[in-house]
Amino acid sequence: MKKVNTSIITIGDELLMGQTINTNSAWMSQELNRIGIWVHRQITIGDNWNDIWNVLQDETSLSDIIILTGGLGPTADDITKPLLCKYFGGQLIMNEEALQNIKNIFTRLNRPLIERNMKQAEVPDSCSVLQNRRGTAPGMLFSRDGKIIISLPGVPYEMKGLMEASVIPYLKNEFVLPTICYKTMVTAGKGESFIAEQLVDFEKSLPHYISLAYLPAYVIVKLRLKAIGENKKKLEKELHSYFEILKKLVAEILVSDEDKRAEELIGEQLIKSGKTVATAESCTGGYIAHLISSVPGASNYFKGSMVSYSNEIKENVLNVSPQTLEKFGAVSEEVVSEMFYSIIEKMKVEYAIAVSGIMGPLGDSNEKQVGTVWIAVGSKERMITKKLVLPFDRTKNIESTSQLAIILLLKIIPKN
Ligand code: ATP
Repeated sequence: MKKVNTSIITIGDELLMGQTINTNSAWMSQELNRIGIWVHRQITIGDNWNDIWNVLQDETSLSDIIILTGGLGPTADDITKPLLCKYFGGQLIMNEEALQNIKNIFTRLNRPLIERNMKQAEVPDSCSVLQNRRGTAPGMLFSRDGKIIISLPGVPYEMKGLMEASVIPYLKNEFVLPTICYKTMVTAGKGESFIAEQLVDFEKSLPHYISLAYLPAYVIVKLRLKAIGENKKKLEKELHSYFEILKKLVAEILVSDEDKRAEELIGEQLIKSGKTVATAESCTGGYIAHLISSVPGASNYFKGSMVSYSNEIKENVLNVSPQTLEKFGAVSEEVVSEMFYSIIEKMKVEYAIAVSGIMGPLGDSNEKQVGTVWIAVGSKERMITKKLVLPFDRTKNIESTSQLAIILLLKIIPKN
């Protein structure tokens, strides 16, 4: 089976200047990979006629499919459409369906329709039009010498709509594509190089069509097995066997054998057991509560949070003893333990998380190291505490503390 190579060209000065993060390339690559299309090049260029022209020429000689995003709007810097018209020859013609779509959008928004907007419905007569139900700029599909060139709007929401409704179904139909299966697990507690060291023999044992990827993200490392081939049933079966072997090899650090966030898994386990959780947060300022409550259905098990940022609130609201604060300092095992038991009592929950730490960049007057955090998690019957010394910046320290605290709790809540 021939490998289908794709180039993604994202257009826009704002991407080059770093004002807009190029999420289109990442999202499109993931979606194309999922259906067995390999993105071997991603190129970002500015709103410049010659640059777009040259890169289009280069990529057409290298790839089977070229997907461009951006530069289709109604303003002067949007030059992709006239350029494609010139590149493929022919002229711009009005597309009635696209025009009707624009009229419908303007009527719905109760906005006057001006000539500039109507011109967005003009497309090169050399293309097939991909109707954009989420916006005014239609997508365009060109075909020349066996190569497919697709132009999509830059707005991520519109690009995604067109990819899902038109591009992916078209490509699946047009090319003979391999089957790709994935299985992902989440680990925490060891860095990727340590895990890789442990998995040398396992990786050697994998057949050439199954590969292992390490996807690290601060406190977690995802391990993803990917199988590529033709027979879906056979691939899935083999992948499953290797996945089970891998699970055993990393059992000690395994958080989940599903590609889910720890807060989602906590939610599932709490719903099953009918138990509830609350948080008492100092240094994370409510971020743990935010993660837990971001899961749909969290109201079934999440009771609330106390952001006890100052010592005054730790004392007056959470009843942490002033002597404990004085003797051990706010960032101590003793203080998080008192915060923990207090929140369990006050919110009448079975499980709780309490955290206190120094997130940086400035330290505290007691000269505790920046990045020091104490976490207490568990239930009244079984509380565990853990000290961390995190090396990141403030934002990453907060995110990592929150994620780790949730993972620690996940390990304590019984699975069934
Ligand atoms: P429109 O018809 O809405 O003007 P367009 O095709 O002209 O769309 P642009 O003008 O290039 O697209 O960009 C529209 C918006 O989408 C801008 O806010 C831009 O920052 C954003 N955008 C463009 N390209 C990308 C990208 N690769 N990743 C993320 N956002 C993008």
